[in-house]
Amino acid sequence: MGEFDLIAAYFTRPVIRAALGVGDDCALLVPTPGMQLATSSDMLVEGRHFLSTVPPDRLGHKALAVNLSDLAACGARPLGFTLALALPRVDETFLAGFSRGLLALADTHGCELVGGDTTQGPLNICITVFGEVPPGQALLRSGARAGDDLYVSGTVGDARLALEAFRGTTPLTGGIFERVRLAMEQPAPRVGLGLALRGVASSAIDVSDGLLGDLGHILRRSGVGAVVDADALPRSADLAAQPIDVQRECGLAGGDDYELLFTAPPGQAGAVTLAARESGVPVTRIGRIEATPGLRLVDGRGAALPHTFGSFDHFKS
Ligand code: ADP
Ligand code: MG
Repeated sequence: MGEFDLIAAYFTRPVIRAALGVGDDCALLVPTPGMQLATSSDMLVEGRHFLSTVPPDRLGHKALAVNLSDLAACGARPLGFTLALALPRVDETFLAGFSRGLLALADTHGCELVGGDTTQGPLNICITVFGEVPPGQALLRSGARAGDDLYVSGTVGDARLALEAFRGTTPLTGGIFERVRLAMEQPAPRVGLGLALRGVASSAIDVSDGLLGDLGHILRRSGVGAVVDADALPRSADLAAQPIDVQRECGLAGGDDYELLFTAPPGQAGAVTLAARESGVPVTRIGRIEATPGLRLVDGRGAALPHTFGSFDHFKS
């Protein structure tokens, strides 16, 4: 099977919303008149962003999910995406599973695959997503203000717990391992919540590199500080069953969560609850934005906790 047969078999489908999809030199997208185009790229490198043990359908899902998560964090509606793929060899079992997982998530969010590039090389996946947002309504990292409440969606820390289990540092029993592994390998991008938070949230980011590190981006871009209650972090029952230091490390600094971390003025608390209900994604208040720069981490009784603000950095770890 050659390059073009491969593209035809696994990555070509009839266009739905686009004016032109796979097969020409460019694809043609049709944003709604007056909307701003939102775009973002994320690359997944074997050994760096995923383990060789990941089932291909979950890898396809995740490659798109991490990109859709960036659209969600901006409150953008997905339109389409391109896929640049380097493959060591043509492995049809892999390609069938990968494209199945990828295109199933694409269909869920009405985000069509319109083009890409395919080459031979070490397994590497780069997706670029395109979405749209009304002018002035994109959720940005820079909008947090003193007095705003700080929220996070879903639960955090399971993906990191799974990684530690794979590394052998935190042994987990079968059922727990399979559940947290699913959180790591098949995250759900919070696209509906991001859309529902337009006009409600004052700032937002998706948690990819660890909650505290990603919060640091909001604080710096907004010129504010925050107090965070470590005990308020939403955790799965599986993570909550681990020792408290494991819970805190995974929840605060774990990464790969793809939850939305956002701020909203106290007057919008009801609207936040409504956005969570509308999108079917739970949201938890975990702290407050303050004028004094820096991060103050406390426990449930308000006692100060030590912390490192560090975020995952590919060139430092
Ligand atoms: P070009 O030489 O003009 O860059 P290619 O020969 O690389 O085009 O690709 C042929 C067509 O297939 C193009 O429309 C391109 O967007 C599409 N394509 C290539 N790889 C992929 C892929 N992995 N997924 C989807 N579309 C792809
Ligand atoms: Mg090309």
